[in-house]
Amino acid sequence: MKIAVLPGDGIGPEVIGAAVDVLNHVTPDLETMYGDVGLECFSRRGEYLPEDTIDLIKHSDAVLFGAITTPLKAEGYRSPILRIRKEFDLYANLRPVRNPAPGIGLVDMDIVIVRENTEGMYTGDETVDAEGVDLRRRVSRAASERICRFARDLSETHKRKRITCVHKANVLRKSDGLFRDVFYEVMEGSIIESRDMIVDAAAAALVSNPQEMDVIVTLNLYGDILSDEAAALAGGLGIAPSANLGDRHALFEPVHGSAPDIAGMGIANPTAAFLTTAMMLEHIGRIEEAVRIRDAVTASLSAGHRTRDLGGGLGTIDFTKQVLSRL
Ligand code: ATP
Repeated sequence: MKIAVLPGDGIGPEVIGAAVDVLNHVTPDLETMYGDVGLECFSRRGEYLPEDTIDLIKHSDAVLFGAITTPLKAEGYRSPILRIRKEFDLYANLRPVRNPAPGIGLVDMDIVIVRENTEGMYTGDETVDAEGVDLRRRVSRAASERICRFARDLSETHKRKRITCVHKANVLRKSDGLFRDVFYEVMEGSIIESRDMIVDAAAAALVSNPQEMDVIVTLNLYGDILSDEAAALAGGLGIAPSANLGDRHALFEPVHGSAPDIAGMGIANPTAAFLTTAMMLEHIGRIEEAVRIRDAVTASLSAGHRTRDLGGGLGTIDFTKQVLSRL
């Protein structure tokens, strides 16, 4: 099997480098092939997402992606990750959020956020005129149905209890209203309990009643915001993994970005990248190795080995050594 590794910018290469060490340790039989993407790639090659990287993705079984820095002068810029999601029809963004070890995070949480990845606010279809900017925001029945089915099937497979459909249909009556209606249609006959919630109430419930949340299915923008909020509550951006899934391709990336403020300092927390790697292994059927990685991360954190964002003093390399020593 072939894994395409796209480290990208900022702390991307640091945390993905550590993740590849872990990957090579547990699955030495997997072939890893590196590809260029992002701002640093642009400065060398004049492109953010070169054709050979697209080709690499096409011919891989899964992609391990780091992060990319958005250029300051964003005129004409099209985000490579948004392009990859679109080009490979990675319609489901899966963001599980749980505390990586007991005692880490502000609240105890074990939720899965399923975010629609192809339309909503992220189509980037903005038109500028003299007075301001128009944004066209698409919510289609087909995409809503596909993501709600995905959330339902995932909940049934993983024996989850409840799905909350998060929307803003009290204001966006037609578009978000369609999403909510389709959700209930899809859930008809399922053993999973279904309910819906306005996005602002959901943001509050994540803080005040996180145990009542289980699986969330939602539109693009809300999923993006709620998953950062949930990650912050469960231990910070340094611990949150994610997957972008389609019917034929899959890309795995930490929820955090390129964190230019700490890039190159050797202090980035690689936990999110490790848990992302575990998600990827699970996806390609290497369940046992995925569990080993998760267990080694939890054991290292529980033994008090932590990076600075979690109140410890270890750098990326030293924390990685702790995890490797437990594998
Ligand atoms: P980008 O523009 O690439 O999204 P950003 O800095 O706006 O970058 P993030 O990269 O998500 O957004 O980072 C937000 C904050 O969280 C930063 O201040 C960063 O220091 C911190 N952070 C993110 N990831 C990690 C990590 N893996 N380890 C430690 N701190 C992190």
